[in-house]
Amino acid sequence: MMSKVHTDELEKAMLQKLAKRGVCIRDIGKVVYETQAPYNPGLSLLKCEESVSAVLKKREIQHAVLVGIELDELAEKRLLSEPLQKLVETDDPLFGCDETLALGAAMGYGSVSVTTFGFLDKHKIGIIKELDTNSEGRVHTFLDDLVASIASAAAGRIAHLMRDEEQEFGDMPTIAKEKIG
Ligand code: MG
Repeated sequence: MMSKVHTDELEKAMLQKLAKRGVCIRDIGKVVYETQAPYNPGLSLLKCEESVSAVLKKREIQHAVLVGIELDELAEKRLLSEPLQKLVETDDPLFGCDETLALGAAMGYGSVSVTTFGFLDKHKIGIIKELDTNSEGRVHTFLDDLVASIASAAAGRIAHLMRDEEQEFGDMPTIAKEKIG
């Protein structure tokens, strides 16, 4: 029987791909911070980055990122067959498979994740905006949605974590919570 792909191998490959395409955990963490800070006054950028790292350990996210980036790269090298090549290369607004793949991966993190994805799809912020606009010769048709997906999943995760902390520690200042937790 052929051996199965280990998560560690998937995570390593995905992180390498993201780095190669110019996306780091801090960039995604900043997007998470911007979407969640209004609801969680005690939120820190570090907590957002930790949440991004946690969702990047999930296979559903890893698979989606690897599939999407692969298609972006193939389109960049003009290796897809027509008419798919043109649809991906031109980021055709009615193509939709980029959003569907990305949204599917973020669904495991509940309604906050899904609504955050919708928000980021409309109001592209931070690294998502950069990917969407600064793509001279580059194809980021899947990547911008995948980054939104990772950020949304991390945001959904944080929303629930913050509530858990609130229930456990009440109104204690964040610094005190961190000392205890
Ligand atoms: Mg797209």
